[in-house]
Amino acid sequence: SLKAGIVGLPNVGKSTLFNSVVENGKAQAANFPFCTIEPNVGKVAVPDPRLHVLSHLSKSQRAVPTSIEFVDIAGLVKGASQGEGLGNKFLSHIREVDSILQVVRCFEDNDVVHVNGKVDPMSDVDVINLELVFSDLDQIEKRMEKLKKGKAKDSQSKVKEEAEKSALEKIQQALMDGKPARSVSLTDFEKDAVKHLCLLTMKPVIYVANVAESDLSAPESNPYVAEVKKLASELQSGLVTVSAQVESELTELPLEERTEYLASLGVKESGLGNLIRETYGLLGLRTYFTSGEKETKAWTILSGMTAPQAAGVIHSDFEKGFIRAETVGYDDFVAVGSFGAAREKGLLRLEGKDYIVQEGDVMLFRFNV
Ligand code: GDP
Repeated sequence: SLKAGIVGLPNVGKSTLFNSVVENGKAQAANFPFCTIEPNVGKVAVPDPRLHVLSHLSKSQRAVPTSIEFVDIAGLVKGASQGEGLGNKFLSHIREVDSILQVVRCFEDNDVVHVNGKVDPMSDVDVINLELVFSDLDQIEKRMEKLKKGKAKDSQSKVKEEAEKSALEKIQQALMDGKPARSVSLTDFEKDAVKHLCLLTMKPVIYVANVAESDLSAPESNPYVAEVKKLASELQSGLVTVSAQVESELTELPLEERTEYLASLGVKESGLGNLIRETYGLLGLRTYFTSGEKETKAWTILSGMTAPQAAGVIHSDFEKGFIRAETVGYDDFVAVGSFGAAREKGLLRLEGKDYIVQEGDVMLFRFNV
């Protein structure tokens, strides 16, 4: 599944948030095959009310949500990009994730030491971003050295190398101006040519403003949050406000008491659902469903995937032997209640191998084995 890495300076609340996400995931989805792979990796269900509607209509024995992996990447500090061993190790963990959640401390608490002596979200964001920028610059320099030697064997790889070079020059310039690689406009061909470098500042970012419980009901009245919000929009990034502390306390309460506790703080829902949904949306992900008596299941695909590719997410044999997909849009399915009824009413479509799967499609694959 797709991975989101949680980064930030020490003592901003990363672990508290990570643990809450994981604990909450366990409690919310009792029959979800939850697993912690490593102490710092947790798989979390993506909340989706449509799943339960479909499951109810199909009288499914169980409903299985789709999931995202969260990775707690501790240890990113000033100087990490110059660091030998450890610093580089943290950066290499970030290289492997699909998106970055940067936790920014917006809460005051004299008992919790701030690494730089005072709460200053803009400076914290800068410190982290600079490390990512330095690391990318370093990598680009090394790559450009290699490209200069021009080892392309045929004209096709030559064209690709040229595209890579031109893209890297543009990105390098942006990085030197302190801007992330994702802010550079590149052609699809150029994007493809630099993909193999897994540049850190190419990854989508969500800023997670960690606020005090007293700020939850009106986060933007906290001037730190307002600053981070402005910055996030300048950097084409998302923003989510949470209180890691509150989330952590919520995980200790029985489910039925949580709503009451949240209400006492002036909010309706926990910030985690929002965080998970934002992460999902930011990655350009889509959900389609399979639904039958045995189970109703949500599946994650990338936007633009064809029906066979989507079938391949379930099993590679489904993709290889793909014949067609019986498809009903989510709203149509809910309106009539079943595949059978959809067929009778002419709402069931027979889609072939070029069909681009749409958000919310309910699908039944026909394939050769
Ligand atoms: P990390 O180093 O970024 O992983 O930070 P931790 O999650 O370990 O948190 C550092 C300290 O800050 C711990 O003592 C937490 O209890 C505390 N902390 C985390 N989030 C909050 C918060 O929202 N409010 C307050 N007051 N303390 C918090």
